[in-house]
Amino acid sequence: MGVNDYGKTRRSFYSEGKICGPVAPWHPEVVTAFDGLRSFNTGSTEAFKTALMKLLKAPGAQRKGRKNPKASGHRPPLRQLMKQRIAAPEENLFGLGKIELEELAVECGQPKFRGRQLFRNLYARRVRDLDACTEIPANFRQELAARFRVEWPDIRARVESQDGAVRYLFALDDGENIETVYMPIENRVTLCLSSQVGCAVGCRFCFTALLGVKRNLTAGEVVGQVTAVLDAQQVPKETPVNLVFMGMGEPMLNLDAVMKAVGILSDSNGLALALRRMTVSTAGVIPQIRKFAEIPARPKLAISLNASSHEQRTALMPLNRKYPLSELMQVCREFPLGPREYLTFEYVLLDGINDSDDDARRVAALVKDIKCKLNLIPFNSGSELPYKPSPLGRVLAFQDILRSHQVPAYIRISRGQDVMAACGQLRLGTMSRTATPVDASL
Ligand code: SAH
Ligand code: SF4
Repeated sequence: MGVNDYGKTRRSFYSEGKICGPVAPWHPEVVTAFDGLRSFNTGSTEAFKTALMKLLKAPGAQRKGRKNPKASGHRPPLRQLMKQRIAAPEENLFGLGKIELEELAVECGQPKFRGRQLFRNLYARRVRDLDACTEIPANFRQELAARFRVEWPDIRARVESQDGAVRYLFALDDGENIETVYMPIENRVTLCLSSQVGCAVGCRFCFTALLGVKRNLTAGEVVGQVTAVLDAQQVPKETPVNLVFMGMGEPMLNLDAVMKAVGILSDSNGLALALRRMTVSTAGVIPQIRKFAEIPARPKLAISLNASSHEQRTALMPLNRKYPLSELMQVCREFPLGPREYLTFEYVLLDGINDSDDDARRVAALVKDIKCKLNLIPFNSGSELPYKPSPLGRVLAFQDILRSHQVPAYIRISRGQDVMAACGQLRLGTMSRTATPVDASL
């Protein structure tokens, strides 16, 4: 199967709902790490595709198939059959917050603190077998086991880059798939998380947009990406973990679940991950950004700017019609930043579209009053999308202009030849390496 054929195959997979959508982790902050992802060579990409094809063709590939196990025409896995025989509990305990677990304990005639114990076991200890929650009385455990399961999203495939970055394909309960990316950088790791299956926003340069949106992820599915990857990678508890919501989906359109997950992830009795190491990226859903701004303890914010004028942005990001650039910049100016906090702007450079000197000057003017940094992202191209990446010289010139206007601009350029253009896109691309500054703050 050639590179171009793959797009076709990929689409047909999508339409059958069989394969995950593309994660869009071209996150400026993590491109150092993505260098690794992009250094998947043709061979490993092919290997991943082959593994996926095999998986997807295999009996029971649609996993659990809770919704309609017969629809896919193959036998459900043995585990599922066994569960059905013993009338397996459908509800997943994993993903419930502390208050919900306290309420559940009380509902079961237990003291409230049992709920907190459960919370610790599920998220701090990452217990997946209720029997292992030994501090919880056996009768309560049994009652829980009769009503609930404890499950993380299933890892269905993984592909590893030469420098250790790993892309994970997850199967969700209803057979949908998402991707998460693990990126080790020096002494820390960054995980690029999905927030939705697909995306409804429809940016013209984005592979995820081709999918449309299938559904929001639950808080459990968000947290489960983290637990499953940290577990699979055996990341030591003390390793700093960065989380970036820059995978598949628009996190602001699933803000409640994202924030519920953030609560579990950051709770000192949960995963205890640092809030300041979490970043939510948005295409600019203004009312949700305002809502996000009011949350007292929240992750950092990244805005996908991607254009220098209203008209240009509308052409690239149709949501700009509803949430115009001028209003977005006003919201950014008003966004309450902590003393050491800054906004991040992401700008995907598209050849001949948004990468002129004038564009750079307009971008500098747009962000001039804002405490921010700006990440220039080379476009990951593909035959489905009508754009080309800007040549390196253009990217450098663009950066120079921004810097000459005192905008801290960083270039995120991938390395390697015949490499994967963007993780999750399951496609190939080529970018050259540059020695320009790379933001290593994540
Ligand atoms: N929906 C959110 C987060 C996911 S997209 C958002 O749009 O911010 C994460 C980043 O990937 C965004 O900055 C987006 O502009 C960028 N992106 C999308 N498609 C891309 C492509 N083909 N090449 C490079 N970056 C892309
Ligand atoms: Fe892609 Fe736009 Fe959706 Fe982000 S908001 S995932 S860039 S379509």
